[in-house]
Parts: sequence; C-alpha cells; structure tokens
Amino acid sequence: MTKYIFITGGVVSSLGKGIIAASLGKLLRARGFSVINQKFDPYINVDPGTMSPFQHGEVFVTDDGAETDLDLGHYERFTDTNLGKLNNVTSGSVYQRVIDKERRGDYLGGTVQVIPHITNEIKARIVGATKQFKPDFQLIEIGGTIGDIESLPFIEAIRQFKAEVGIGNAVSVHCTLLPYLPTSGELKTKPSQHSVTVLRSYGIQPEILVCRTTRAIPKTEKEKLALFCSVPKDAVIECRDMKSIYEVPLALEEQGMADVILNMLRVDSEKPNLEAWEKLVDKIKNPAKAIRVAIAGKYTKLSDAYISVVESLKHAGYANDAAIEIKWINSEECVDPNRCAELMKDVHAVVVPGGFGIRGIEGKLNVIRYSRERNVPFLGICLGMQCAVIEYARNVVGLKGANSAEFDENAPYPVIDLMLEQKNVQAYGGTMRLGAYDCILKEGSVAAKAYGQEKISERHRHRYEVNNEYLKQIADAGLVFSGMSPDGMLAEVVELPQNDWFVAAQFHPEFKSRPDKPHPLFKGLIDAAVKRI
Ligand code: GLN
Repeated sequence: MTKYIFITGGVVSSLGKGIIAASLGKLLRARGFSVINQKFDPYINVDPGTMSPFQHGEVFVTDDGAETDLDLGHYERFTDTNLGKLNNVTSGSVYQRVIDKERRGDYLGGTVQVIPHITNEIKARIVGATKQFKPDFQLIEIGGTIGDIESLPFIEAIRQFKAEVGIGNAVSVHCTLLPYLPTSGELKTKPSQHSVTVLRSYGIQPEILVCRTTRAIPKTEKEKLALFCSVPKDAVIECRDMKSIYEVPLALEEQGMADVILNMLRVDSEKPNLEAWEKLVDKIKNPAKAIRVAIAGKYTKLSDAYISVVESLKHAGYANDAAIEIKWINSEECVDPNRCAELMKDVHAVVVPGGFGIRGIEGKLNVIRYSRERNVPFLGICLGMQCAVIEYARNVVGLKGANSAEFDENAPYPVIDLMLEQKNVQAYGGTMRLGAYDCILKEGSVAAKAYGQEKISERHRHRYEVNNEYLKQIADAGLVFSGMSPDGMLAEVVELPQNDWFVAAQFHPEFKSRPDKPHPLFKGLIDAAVKRI
C-alpha cells in the first residue's frame, strides 16, 4: 500500500519546499523504494504554460507533454523518476474538471460546493496518481504558505485524506523559517510556532518540522519547537542554507529524517545506499577548475526562469570537475555588436535558451554570430536554435531580413515559420507541440557522437519550426541539419562540425539532465569549454 507524505510551508514563501520534498524522495529512493512527487499549486491558471517566467519561473515539460511547475524538475532530478500530467495539480485544473462535470449534469439536483466537490476532486487527483504509478511513497507538496486563502481547499482535502487512510499511512511535514535576529543574537522560533498553530486550526497536526535557517539550531530551541508544536524531538529537522542543493539530502539523512518518517509510517527499510550521491557531492564541493558560461536571454533578472538550463550546465560541470559560473547576459544589451563582443569576451561557452516574443532577438543573433565566428562553444535551445538558423540565413546564406514569422509576419525570408498544425490554433493554453518526440540523428554527426546513438527522444515546447522551403539552401551553405523528426519533416538539431561545439536543438535537452547523468548536449558544450581554459 502507498504511504503518503504531505509537505506544507509556513512563515514565508520561497523556503525551498520543492528541494526538501525532492530530497526526501531521494532518501527513500536510496532505500530501494519507488517514489513519486506531486505538486499542488493553488493558483487558478489551469497550468503555468501561459504564465510569464517572471511570474512563475521556468515552465517544466514532462514526457507526456504537461507544462508544469519547476519543482517537477527538482523531483525528477533528485529521484531520477519521470513524472507526468498527474504530478502537477492546480486549483484551475480542479475547478475546471468540477465545472465540466456540473455542466454535463453529473451533479443534477445538487449544489456544487468547495466541500465536498472541490475537495473530493483534489483527493481524486491524489488517488489517480497512486493508481497510475503504484509507488511505495507519494510525496505531495502544497504550494504557497499556510494561511493563504487560496490553498485552503487543498489543506482541507489533506485533512480528510489523512483521516481516511488512517494513522501510520500518512504524515505531514511542515517547513518553516527560523529568522535570526542579530540584535539579540538568536534564532527565533515564534513564527514557526504560530504557523503550526494555524495549521492545527485547519485540523492538521504536523508530525515533522523542517526548519530553514542560516545557522545551527541550539538544542534548547529544538526542544522548544518540539514542545510547542507537539512533535517528537527527533522530528525537528534543521535545514541550513547550503552551497549546492544536492547537499540537502545528505544533511537531512544525517539527522535521520527518513528513518523518523519510516518509523511513523511503520515501514521497515534497508540502510540507504547514498555512496554515489556522496561522491557526487564531494565532487561538487571540490571542483578543480571554473568555467564561465554565458546565458543570453531576456529573463536574466530571475534565474528561476532558466533553472533547468542552469542545473544542466552544473551537471555537465560535475562530470568535468568544473564549477560553472553563470554570466547572465541580457540579450537586449547585445543589440550593439561592440557591446556584445565586450560582454562575450571573457566567456568559455554560451547558451541561448528558449523564449517567446521579439524582445532581445537581435541581441541573441549577435551573440550567436560572435560564437560562430570566434568559435566560442555554443548551445542553442528551441528559440536559441531558431535564432541560430536565422543568423546563418542572414549572415552566411545572404538572405537579408530572414526572420521567424513569430517576430515578423512579413519577413522576406521566413526561415522559421508556424508549424502546419499550428496555423489554425486559436487558444494559447496547452496547444504547442509538447512533450516527448523521437528524433533521428545523422550518422557520424557531432550530435550522434555525443549521444552515442542515432535514435533519441526529447521533450518539446514550441509552435514554430524551421521552414522546409529554405532547408536545402541553408544546408548547401554549410549548416548541418543533423537531427530530423522520424518522418523527415521537422528539423530538430543543427550543427557546425568545423567549430569546437556549435549545436542547437529545437527540443529542450535541459529537461532530461540528471546530476549524475549529464545530458549529452550540455556535456559536449562543457567538454569543449574546458579545453579553452
Ligand atoms: N517561440 C518559439 C516557438 O514557439 C520558441 C519556443 C521556445 O523556445 N520554447 O516555437
């Protein structure tokens, strides 16, 4: 039978609940259990696909084409488990389903209410994921902070669910913050106590407290928290700020967090096998060299907007014993080629990541031209690949004014155009080419060598594609189309084999990289970058 672990947050947002949920998942996986994580987001959007990265950070895409919260990226990376549509639940999707049922007449005669209809639908989402994955453990993180109005239906659903599955089958982990007051030199526990009081007023007594803090929690304060929050002393877990998020599972393990939970859930377990992870963390903490990688995009003020790209670069760094220093380049600043050259001059590699809309495009084209001409290792992702094609068409093929139809509907040479099946799409939500599709790599190409195979599957999220009318002309001028969809209709990878590393993909490799298994395209980029230091 599946055991359930609910994770809530109190005091402030941005506590890193996602990392804590992912780390706990890792500790259970290390004991040989199967684990899935779920994220419940209380906003009304059906999914984050239509939200600006400034609002919500990156949109993470699963194999089955769900546009999800970035925490799913952490879950997949820590637990090495592929998740899907059922793993991210929003208020919007819950209400949508209930309202659809109401219109269909499923509740004829009834008044549709938050309790029981919305809460039942939330519980159905928990059970739905259990049925599909049949995991030993299901970890469910509730977005937002305890006390928010909008998360109440989720909290109420958990209260009911815990009572229904009974003691020993579900526990709640509550994450809080212990602020440090420099004037009194103390870590304060009162906000955490209050947060637990609020949680209790909703009918949930947490079994475990995870306290985020910048310094060690004195024993006396731990005891105080245990006493006032009614949790066992060994269930007050300290979670300090750490240099790398991948250290968190080890810090939690040291305090016996997983064993405390397993005891509460009456599950016997083997000793965890964390040897490989410990080695990885050791590598992370003691890099032999440093690589400066530029990310040239338009959401550079919020690094969460590119979190999977950043993590993937780090993973490739670990494999090279290299620390990755990200140099954020606002592509709008690169519209002037001289400024672009100045910004690019000290970087060992550059990534032009995905994106939407015209802002910053001319700057990205300059960044790509610079890396192509100066042989700076370059990786283009989605929009970055489209820009690489535009840049080549303009500056090498000689198609002046070449562009994507996304930015200029009247471009003289629309080398990037809407995909055929996108031409009649009216609504924006969930209608892109989404999720895993196969791609065939050209024998002997840089990409095929990096992957070590010719048939690959990667995750997508785009509406536009290389316009096949120009494919031959661009290829004849030297840009190699080294990856195509199996029917040969969609360009998936382009490369310049004469450069040390110039590869761009229409798909998003960053969604499949794992800390101990760097993605081949990121690995190729950093391998090439290392040679330049
Ligand atoms: N805007 C481009 C498209 O829709 C690229 C999308 C992306 O980078 N994810 O095709």
